[in-house]
Amino acid sequence: MMMIDGILLIDADNAFNRINRAVALHNIQHICPAMKHVLINFYRTPTRIFMKGEGFFELLSREGTTQGCPLAMAMYALALVPLSKQLQPQCKQVWYADDATGCDKLEKMREWFDTLCEIGPTYGYFPKPPKCILVVKADKLEQAKKVFKDSGVRVQTEGSKDCGIEINTEGTRHLGAAVGNPDFKEKYVKHKVDNWVSAVKKLAAIATTQPHAAFSAFTQSLQGQWTFLSRSMPGVSHLFQPLEDSIRHDFVRSLLKREVNDLERDMLSLPARMGGMGIFKPVEECQISSTNSPYISAPLVRLIQRQTFEFDPRELAEEMKTLRKDVDRESDDRSKAKLATILQYAPEELKLAVQAASEKGASSWVTATPSFDHGTILHKGEFVDASYIRYGWNLLNLPLTCACETSFSLQHALDCKLGGLRIIQHNEVRDTLAQCMRDAGYSAVEIEPQLQPLDGEQFEYKSANKDDEARSDIKCCGFWNNMRQAYFDVKVVSPFARSNVHLKPAQLFKNAERSKIREYGERIRNVDHGDFTPLVFTCAGGMAPKSHLVLKRLAEKLSERQNIHLSVVSGWLRCRLSFALLRTTLLCVRATRRKKIACDNNIELAVAAARMDY
Ligand SMILES: [Zn+2]
Repeated sequence: MMMIDGILLIDADNAFNRINRAVALHNIQHICPAMKHVLINFYRTPTRIFMKGEGFFELLSREGTTQGCPLAMAMYALALVPLSKQLQPQCKQVWYADDATGCDKLEKMREWFDTLCEIGPTYGYFPKPPKCILVVKADKLEQAKKVFKDSGVRVQTEGSKDCGIEINTEGTRHLGAAVGNPDFKEKYVKHKVDNWVSAVKKLAAIATTQPHAAFSAFTQSLQGQWTFLSRSMPGVSHLFQPLEDSIRHDFVRSLLKREVNDLERDMLSLPARMGGMGIFKPVEECQISSTNSPYISAPLVRLIQRQTFEFDPRELAEEMKTLRKDVDRESDDRSKAKLATILQYAPEELKLAVQAASEKGASSWVTATPSFDHGTILHKGEFVDASYIRYGWNLLNLPLTCACETSFSLQHALDCKLGGLRIIQHNEVRDTLAQCMRDAGYSAVEIEPQLQPLDGEQFEYKSANKDDEARSDIKCCGFWNNMRQAYFDVKVVSPFARSNVHLKPAQLFKNAERSKIREYGERIRNVDHGDFTPLVFTCAGGMAPKSHLVLKRLAEKLSERQNIHLSVVSGWLRCRLSFALLRTTLLCVRATRRKKIACDNNIELAVAAARMDY
């Protein structure tokens, strides 16, 4: 690094569209035989592009890569390989798509630049000297002006720009980050941060009416923007503080309708699977990723520094994958440690809620992209309620008392039998699962199948169901074994119920599964000669071990039948169930409970008594 004078950034004119297709396809046959067939088939004949202008018309794309083509990047990169190979002996260089950067002694860079301008166009690469930037060390400025004199095609007559290339000693932006002296970098980051703060404020405004959409825009898109910058520019984390302030005081506040304290802010910054919301803290993230990024990209940097052209890409990918794993493991450990510290100081309600929220499946709504078509969008009330339940906060605007005259709370809402809301929840889960079984190709799926009446059979457990009218929730022929009936019974337990709060999730599940098995297991095994499996879920979206087994089996069947990858199907299944549970939990909290009253439809009386005539 001590030996170089500066860096030269090349800007090419309309690069992707001007690449010479015929030359590229010819060269690719030798450079990359593995891709030659597909690329030749894609690009040999002009691509038809349909345009809407005055009426519809068709354009033939004959040069360059086609926008939207999934192979465009590969095609483009391969097309430029011979060019960069030819230039390599002249100067140290690095290429990222159409961005070429030279980095060496001034004379070498000049030579490189001239060659690039001369032979680039034969490949369809047209450097635009007026837009190229040369950044040099301060003491090299005069020399730079001399060496690059008349380098440009366009020579300016007066002023500092005596050639086409802009020469400066401060710095410039490069691939979305900045290179140059510390002042320049700081200014650059500050400017970026300012822009992001205003973006966060805009999202905060949207979050008042559309919290779910704003949340997903933030976590899935916006915060990725600063991740990139913080990876590529070390030592700037302190500049992100204004962004953190805005996230906490504008965005989170408008999203959750409350201020959060330090502990809660830390909680929200954890990944969803650990009970967080994935609203990361930019200052912290920036510190971490600016150390992680060089660690992972070390093999690439080594190749660039040595200017190696021949290497085994598989070996490189393998090496980077190993490094990536180290970093992932470390960040996992860091989050776990953070969670442990939070829980040490957290109030009981938060501890309990986080325990429920860390169950597999309980965070599907946090990570799913809101969509009407797939039933994954929550309206503003649902979103806020779901977040409050997740963190054990007192729900906003709850009625003081229930229609059953008990004081109302989340706990009571999930216990109260009035209005049949818990039954709706149970049925929703049952129907969702039965539908998934049908989708998985089981044709004989029955809801609420009747068990055979008993003729004096005796059972070991007192709690065994001996009712002549007994039914289980779902019957599915061939689920576990070919031609053998499998019976299921659904139970949704509330981890917030008074009798359950002291139980660890594992114990809660175990108890619920055992009581279901005692109720049905023996009778179904001995009388109906079938298999019985309890399906226990929590209202928070967690599921018991046996439910996991059932879901795994279902996912395997679905994946086989629809030829979709198993992990995709099981994610989808868990998410579907999780939304069914969440929505019905929210229903229990917000739906109006009423005692059945003999409703009076005597119009005359009503009009007279309640003055309902207007
Ligand atoms: Zn009640």
